[in-house]
Amino acid sequence: MLVMPAQLLCPRCEQDWARPYRFKADGASFLLCAECDSLWWPDEAVTVARAHFLDDVVAARLGVEGNPWSDRVWADVIEQTPELRR
Ligand SMILES: [Zn+2]
Repeated sequence: MLVMPAQLLCPRCEQDWARPYRFKADGASFLLCAECDSLWWPDEAVTVARAHFLDDVVAARLGVEGNPWSDRVWADVIEQTPELRR
């Protein structure tokens, strides 16, 4: 079985991996759990205490109030970072 060090089990929901994503606008990378929308910046420990919410981060970056997904979808803003390892 392949060892994949990039895969970290989400500490908040423990239902999915914290996977590498990036913002399409500027390429800023982060880790995201698609199950509970927890977000971590690359220099942060992936812990419950350090978790951000994707919605909050996206709203702040786009300068919108409240739910940023009323007129856009994830694919408009972020994309999963292509796997570099095989
Ligand atoms: Zn999660």
